[in-house]
Amino acid sequence: MQFYSLNNNAPKVSFKEAVIAGIAPDKGLYFPEKITPLPTSFFDGIEQISNLEIAFKAIHQFVKDDISDDKLASILETVLDFDFPVVALEENVATLELFHGPTMAFKDVGARFMANCLGHFSEGEKQEVTVLVATSGDTGGAVANGFLGVDGVKVVILYPSGKVSDIQEKQLTTLGQNITAIEVDGTFDDCQKMVKTAFLDSDLTNHMKLTSANSINVARWLPQLLYFLFAYKQAKSKGREIIFSVPSGNFGNICAGMVAQKLGMPVKHFIAATNVNDVVPNYMKKGEYVPKPSKATISNAMDVGDPSNFIRIRHLYQDDLEKLSQNLSSYSFTDVETKNAMKHIHIASGYITDPHGAVGYLGLKKYQENKPNTYGIFMETAHPVKFLDVVEDTLNVSPPIPPQIQKVMGREKKSIAISTYDELKSYLKNS
Ligand SMILES: *Cc1c(COP(=O)(O)O)cnc(C)c1O
Repeated sequence: MQFYSLNNNAPKVSFKEAVIAGIAPDKGLYFPEKITPLPTSFFDGIEQISNLEIAFKAIHQFVKDDISDDKLASILETVLDFDFPVVALEENVATLELFHGPTMAFKDVGARFMANCLGHFSEGEKQEVTVLVATSGDTGGAVANGFLGVDGVKVVILYPSGKVSDIQEKQLTTLGQNITAIEVDGTFDDCQKMVKTAFLDSDLTNHMKLTSANSINVARWLPQLLYFLFAYKQAKSKGREIIFSVPSGNFGNICAGMVAQKLGMPVKHFIAATNVNDVVPNYMKKGEYVPKPSKATISNAMDVGDPSNFIRIRHLYQDDLEKLSQNLSSYSFTDVETKNAMKHIHIASGYITDPHGAVGYLGLKKYQENKPNTYGIFMETAHPVKFLDVVEDTLNVSPPIPPQIQKVMGREKKSIAISTYDELKSYLKNS
């Protein structure tokens, strides 16, 4: 299996090369050359198949030239060692809890899968790989945790000082070993700009192997398709048309769901729910894609003004808006609507959602106004304690802190404070 650049101006590469490079030399995102559907019998009997076997069958075609079957099986065993339960909330509404991993963010699976692949590809290599990543919160923790202790890989995480939650900061800054946290005096956009500058700085890239761990990397993006298969397996017995609502920021998660659909998963419709960062809902309405600066919201992991993976979605549908509209609906919601949804769900079922999950719920309910007979699953992408302030303010309850989080709260923060790109560069050159 080869991967090509969506800018069509770079050579095709193997999975291994795509993972190490992150982005193609022509700045395009890599995309698999072919998506071969799994047999219908696979989906007919999916309830009988273990999660590990589902994962192996779904991922195998993309990686088989570069990862042996045994190695793939062992990577998947390491990555998928927690549950992905579908919890019913209403007659035709359920949530897929994606927060049972080590950092309680749905990014754990992609980050761990990428870390294991990169670690495997670095075995026997003399030159270390440095993973450089900017985070607005949850990516950093998942990446730090996934890469902790992986030989041959160093991780440098940039985060905006004072703009991530206490829990998120602890998850980034307390691990040590091969993980370094850089605290930037600026915004998330400033962090992202520094990372982009570093990738284009030949003075750096001639001296070190730099890669990113954002969802543009195929190893972080593709394994997310498993969530949809695991959820389908649990909901299939409902015997109704299943639809997924995905709270979306960079649109990597929902795009992976669409790859699961190409693999033959019998799900016809997806809902991309966003906060007021509504570039995609606007595109779906008007046919014009107009990126905007991001706006701060309470669902801050989705504060994205130019979603990097949306290009992959357009490509999956040959850039045909009409075809895409048959498979995708997209709606945006304000913070007030999000808080009201959190309250409504809590009162009606006692269930506590985080603000991102609540946006997913709203998107689902909106679609179901016209399609009441569907069975809708919205994704709960983070545990509510990851967004404790909002949850406490909105619901007047304090959810108990789970052990994974308690463990990091008492540790000591270590970070390197910087305010300019030159400081980052000199750190990278001298470390
Ligand atoms: C990253 C993230 C999202 C958005 O996922 P995308 O794949 O970027 O669309 C949603 N919710 C939470 C909690 C996240 O961390």
